[in-house]
This record gives sequence, structure tokens and C-alpha cells, in this order.
Amino acid sequence: MTDNWKPRTRLVHSGSRRSQYGEVSEAIFLTQGFVYDSAEQAEARFVELGDDEYIYARYGNPTVRMFEDRIAALEGAEDAFATASGMAAVNGALLAGLKAGDHVVAARALFGSCLYICETLLPRYGIDVTFVDGTDLDQWRAAVRPGTRLCFLEAISNPTLEVIDIAAVAQIAHDAGALLVVDNVFATPVFQRTLDLGADVVVYSATKHIDGQGRCLGGVVLGSREFIRKTLEPYLKHTGGALSPFNAWVMLKGLETLDLRCRAQAETAIDIATALEGHARLEKVIHPFLASHPQHDVARRQMSMGGTVLSLVVKGGKDGAFRFLDGLRIVKISNNLGDAKSLVTHPATTTHQRLSPEQRAALGISDGLVRLSIGLEDAADLRDDITGALAQV
Ligand SMILES: *Cc1c(COP(=O)(O)O)cnc(C)c1O
Repeated sequence: MTDNWKPRTRLVHSGSRRSQYGEVSEAIFLTQGFVYDSAEQAEARFVELGDDEYIYARYGNPTVRMFEDRIAALEGAEDAFATASGMAAVNGALLAGLKAGDHVVAARALFGSCLYICETLLPRYGIDVTFVDGTDLDQWRAAVRPGTRLCFLEAISNPTLEVIDIAAVAQIAHDAGALLVVDNVFATPVFQRTLDLGADVVVYSATKHIDGQGRCLGGVVLGSREFIRKTLEPYLKHTGGALSPFNAWVMLKGLETLDLRCRAQAETAIDIATALEGHARLEKVIHPFLASHPQHDVARRQMSMGGTVLSLVVKGGKDGAFRFLDGLRIVKISNNLGDAKSLVTHPATTTHQRLSPEQRAALGISDGLVRLSIGLEDAADLRDDITGALAQV
């Protein structure tokens, strides 16, 4: 019935389940378990769960299921499994189907905890990982080999906002018999049809745009019913990464306004990026929809808008960047993104502090680099705040 609904309609209505009271707003089923009418019914549920049947909240819960169905409807995925955080989703998507002896190819520019899984955890279990520059297709081609089971990338990298050609990498992965798993946080489900581009599995930290108001941790994995139910679900339901029903409800409400929020934030982001290009106190402005962006063509091809984040290289290295951060009044210093509040991060001293100076240099994370996540404030106010802070650099 939802098949021909447009995304905004899906975000408001898809997945809704109403109790006998006919509530307008989705109910929070804050329950870990469920009672059965009879011993026979309990037995039957443990043999096989029907479509809207539950036995234990680690396996599933009606509020969580509403969130999963709604985000699956937006993404155009057959199914979804929600998790307690974005990292539980990434961990599940990667580990659920891998075993010792398998090979993985991953883009090098990864979120810190994703890098930990690929660089430290997988090798410990006998899974070999080859890292590539995600924007260089020849490196992907050279890295896949017999035994490559999975390719993993972030569609837009953090914090340098490199854009990877998903259709091209999907082709390389599929020719090698591997699955392509995409962490799509920065591109958002609003701006990019990642499964249509050829990805097999899409992962979100719902903590970011989907909540979008800085309240809860959450995550979700989307893909074919076969992958979600046969590969992922057994792993996640037995290892305990389930999303809490309360957080699922917050995320469900977040989805209702996701499209509106992301578009408003992305509009302001490109406005500000455009206004700042060439500023005397900046070495560089990075945003996928600026013509100066190295993968500008790929970004325009695979995304409808350039996202809600921009990065700046402030002149004067760390000192310049710190003066800029300390000079901001509206934009808050924090490491979240996708929030209604505009947030600024200095990756070299916070999120990417753990890396060696050489690793940071290889990823383009200079001491002057700052990441700006644009929120829902008035664009002119934000522009004034940012140019005011730059004047103090
Ligand atoms: C935040 C983030 C994660 C991890 O999500 P959590 O909800 O913090 O666990 C993974 N990947 C990317 C790209 C992120 O931005």
C-alpha cells in the first residue's frame, strides 16, 4: 500500500501500528516481554514468529518495528534491523556474515570506531582487511581478490567530505562476488538512493540526522530480507545490540521531520560554503556541491543535495582553528552532527586525536581543519556568527 507514496508521506505514515485505542501518535511499547494467550500460542511463536508477533524485546518490539518499517520504506529496502547505536549497526553489518579467512576491502577514511573494527578487531579474528583510497577506483580494482567477501565505505568521508562513486565500487565488489556495505550517515537517506546506486547494505547512525535533536543513540541496518533476517538478525538478537523502545519512538518521531530538516540544513550549508569561498582567513572551503570539490561531479550525480556538513581549513593551523572555535557564539563546540543546533569540531585534537600525525596527514586532516555541521538556525545569523569568528583568527 505504501509503494507509490512519496518519501515525505512515507516518513509520516509508513510502519504505523495502532493499538485498540486508535492513538494518533505512535505508542511506546515500553516492555521487554509479551504474554501469550495459551501454552500452545507460546510454543507456536517460538517455532516461527509471524509478521507482527513478538516474544522478547532483544528480538523485536512493536515500537522498534515501526521505526524499522518506516526507515525501510524511505530507503526502499526490503527490511531493516534497528540497533542501540550506529556502531552496533556497523559492527553487525560487518561481523554478522564474516568468518576467519575472509577478506574485506575498506576505504581508509573511516569514522574512528569504524576504523577500529576494520583495523584492529577484524584482523584479530582472522579476517584480512585491505585499505584503499576510496576515491581511487583503480585501488578498489587492485584490492579485491578471490575470498573478498565485503567492501565497506562511507559515502561521504568524515571530516574531509570526500565523495565515493558508489555505483562504480558496487560494480567492482559484485564482479568479485562481494557485498557492498555503505555507511551513509553524511549523505543521509534524504539525499541519496544508496541501494538504487548498487549498495547491498546501508547503515545509519540514527544518532545523527534521524534523531536530529541530540537526544538518543541509535542505529539501523537496511538491506534485502535475506540479509537482514538470515544473516544479520541471528547475530544481533543473540549479541544484544537491540534498540530500546523509547529511543525507537524518539527516532520514529525524528523521521517525521527528517526530510524537512535535512533540506533546510543542507540549503544553509551550501549557502554558507558558497559565501565563505575565497575568505581571506580561510585556506579552503570543502563541500560536495561546490564546483571546487574534487568529486563534485560524482556528488552531483549521486546526491540530490550536498549534505548538511561543510569543512573549513582555517589559516594559522591549530591556533587559528582554536581562535575560530572560541569566537563562535551561536555554533556550539561539540562532536555530534546532523543536529538542529549548528556544531563545530576540531578533528585533529578531538575525534581524530588518536591517529598519528602521519595518518592524519594521509587523510587530509590538517591542524587548521574544522568541521561545521549546519543546524536549523537562521542562515544569516549563522553567516554573521561564522564571519565574526573568522575575524578573530
Ligand atoms: C556517528 C557515526 C557512527 C557511529 O554512530 P553512533 O551512533 O555514535 O554509534 C558511525 N559512522 C559514522 C559515519 C558516524 O558519523
